[in-house]
Amino acid sequence: TAFACREIAMSNETQFAELIWDADGQPSSGRFGDVYFSRVNGLAETRHVFLQHNQLAERWAALAEDANFSIAETGFGTGLNFLCAWELWERSAPRGARLHFISCERFPLHPDDLRKALSLWPELQPLSDTLLDSYQALPPGWQHFSFSGGRINLTLLIGDAVQMFEQLDAQIDAWFLDGFAPAKNPDMWRPELFEQMARLSVPGTSMATFTCAGDVRRGLQAAGFQLNKVPGYGSKREMLCGHLQHPVTQQWQAPWLCRPEADLQQPRTALVIGAGLAGISSAWALARRGWQVTLLDRHSEPASEASGNPQGILYVRLSPHSTPLSRFVESSYGHCLRHLQALLPDDGVNRQACGVLQLPTDEAELKRLQALGEAGYPPSFLQLLDSQQASDLAGVAINTQALLFPAAGWANPPALCRAMLEQPGIRLLGNSAVAQLDHRQGQWAALDANGQHLATAGVAVICGAVDSLQLAQSAQLPLKPIRGQITHLPATPASRSLRTVLCGAGYISPARLDEHHVGASFRFDRFDSEPSEEENAGNLEMLRGLSPDMESLLALQQLQPAALKARAGLRCSTPDYLPVIGPLADADAFFEDYAELAKDASKKPDTITRTYPGLFVNTGHGSRGLVSCPLSAELLAAWVCNEAFPLPRDLVDALHPSRFLHRRLIRRQQ
Ligand code: SAM
Repeated sequence: TAFACREIAMSNETQFAELIWDADGQPSSGRFGDVYFSRVNGLAETRHVFLQHNQLAERWAALAEDANFSIAETGFGTGLNFLCAWELWERSAPRGARLHFISCERFPLHPDDLRKALSLWPELQPLSDTLLDSYQALPPGWQHFSFSGGRINLTLLIGDAVQMFEQLDAQIDAWFLDGFAPAKNPDMWRPELFEQMARLSVPGTSMATFTCAGDVRRGLQAAGFQLNKVPGYGSKREMLCGHLQHPVTQQWQAPWLCRPEADLQQPRTALVIGAGLAGISSAWALARRGWQVTLLDRHSEPASEASGNPQGILYVRLSPHSTPLSRFVESSYGHCLRHLQALLPDDGVNRQACGVLQLPTDEAELKRLQALGEAGYPPSFLQLLDSQQASDLAGVAINTQALLFPAAGWANPPALCRAMLEQPGIRLLGNSAVAQLDHRQGQWAALDANGQHLATAGVAVICGAVDSLQLAQSAQLPLKPIRGQITHLPATPASRSLRTVLCGAGYISPARLDEHHVGASFRFDRFDSEPSEEENAGNLEMLRGLSPDMESLLALQQLQPAALKARAGLRCSTPDYLPVIGPLADADAFFEDYAELAKDASKKPDTITRTYPGLFVNTGHGSRGLVSCPLSAELLAAWVCNEAFPLPRDLVDALHPSRFLHRRLIRRQQ
C-alpha cells in the first residue's frame, strides 16, 4: 500500500473525492464508506472535538499581537474544520496575529461538491464564499491561499498525509486528527503518521481527534503524546485529546539548508533591494506580516526593467516527469492566479483571464504537450485540444494540437506592482542604487557607490536580478543575464479576433489598449536595454509560425521592424532554471567549513553554516517572474519570519542559495 501511495503522489494525477449525498444533502465518501462529519450536527462536532479540545479560544485570546499560530490537519475534506477555525480566530485572536492552517488531502473535493457541502452551513457563508472563490482550477502540489488581508493562511497539501507531512517543515501548535474512522481508512492511521506529528510538534503542541480507537491511542502514545479520553460529540462516548510531552530527536539535515538562528528581539524592519516583481512581492509579503520595509531601486519608478512589460503571460512550462522545476511552477501558478484575482480586476487593462494556448514548435514538443494532456491533470488546469478546438477557441487558425491552460491569460506587471505597493508599511526609495551592504551593530546599512548611507534595517533582502552580482555577499550566485525584447504591434480590426494568448517559439496576446505585445527574443550577447530592429524582425518571423492567419490579421508585410515600438530587458536566469530564495551563506566560510565534502560527498558534517545574519535573497526568476514571484515571496517571508514553509522541503532545498556552493564543493571532488 505504501508503494501504491507513493505512485499516486509522484504522478500528476489529481483524484477527486467521490461523494454520495443522502436525502438530507449530507455528504459521505463512496471510496471510504464513511461520513465527512456527524449527521447530527457537523458544525457542533467540529467545535467540540477540534476547537474546544485544543483549547483554541483560550489560547488565541492570550496570543501576542504579532503571534503566529499553526494548525495541521489530516483530511481537508469539505473545509468545515478550517472554516470553523477561521471563524473562531476572527472572534478571539488579536488583529495582528496570523493563523496558518495546513491541511493535507489525498482526494480533494471537486469545487462543485465543495460548494454543495458548504451550503449546509449558512452561518459560515461569508467565509465559505471566500474560500470557494479561490478554490478553483486547483493544480496538483501544495496550494497556498491567503485570506482576510493575510491574517488567515491555508496551505493545502494535496496527497497522502504521511508523505505530505514528511515534506513539511513547520512547527505545529495544534493538530486536528480527522480523516474517516480508522477501521475504514487504516492506511492513514499508521505509526508513521504519528511519528510525523511528533516531529512537527514541540512540547505542549496539542492534538484532538474524534476517535478513541486503541491502535490510534497506542500509536500516539508511542510517538510521545500524552492523552486523555474525554466525552465525544453527540452519541460518541469518547474521543482523544492531549499534547506532546517531550521534544523528539530530529534527524540530521544538511546544515547549509537549515534555518538560521532568528533574532526575535530585532524590530521587524527590512531593506529590500530591487523594485521589480521579486522585490515588490517580497516587500509586500513582509509588510503584510507587519514589517516596516524600505524598498530601494536605482530607478525613480518601480518595475522599470524586466518587470515593466505591459503584458506578462501566465506561461507555465511543465515536464510530464514531475521535476522539481515543474512542481515548483505548478504550485506557483495556482498561487499566482489567486494573488492576481485578489489584487487586479479582470478588465482587459490590468489583466485578462483569456486562457493560454501552448503550441508545439517541433515533434519533441508535441510529444511533451501530448504527455501532459494525458497525465491526468484536472481539465480546469490544463487540457489537450485538437487543432479545430484550438482554432475555435483562439479565434485564429491553429494547425496543430495545443495545450490549453483555461484559467491563465495575461496581466500587466506594473499594475500588479502598484497594487502591492499600496500595502501599508512599504516605503519606496527611488534613485537609490545600492552598491554595498554593511552589517553594523546588528543592522544592515545600504550604501551607494560613493559610500553615502541610503537606509538601515534589521534584515536585508537582495532582489536585484543580475545586479545582485555587484554586492559582495551575493557575488557568489551563478546568475546569468538573458536579454529579451518585446515588440508592440498596433491592433487591427481583424486582429481583434484573437481571443487567447498563443505561446510557441514566442507569444502574442489579445490586444490591450489597442496594442498586441509579441515576444520575446533570447539573446546572450547583448546586455543593454536599447531595442533593436533585428529583434523586432525576429519577433515578426516568430509570429508567422504561431498561426497562418497572423500575416493577414496584423498586416505583417506592411510593418517596418525599425519603426516598431519595442522594449528590451534582462532576464536573470540560473544554471538549473530555478530561482534563488533563502538565507545567504558566507561563501569563503562555507568552503572552509565543509572542505571535507570535496573529498567525500557522503559525509554528514554538523558544523552550523555561517550565514550572514538577517541577509536573504529572492531572485533568478528568468522569464516567469509573474508566475513565480508571489509564492516565492511567501517562501522568502517564511524564511525571514521562521514560519512554516509553503512548499515541500525538497523544493525549498532545490531553491536554496547554498545549493550552488554545495555543488561547487562536490564537483571539486571529481
Ligand atoms: N476535516 C474535514 C472537514 O472539515 O470537512 C473532514 C475530513 S473527512 C472525515 C476525511 C478526509 O480525509 C477525506 O477528505 C479524505 O479524502 C481524507 N483522507 C483520507 N485518507 C487520507 C490520507 N491518507 N491522506 C490524506 N487525506 C486523506
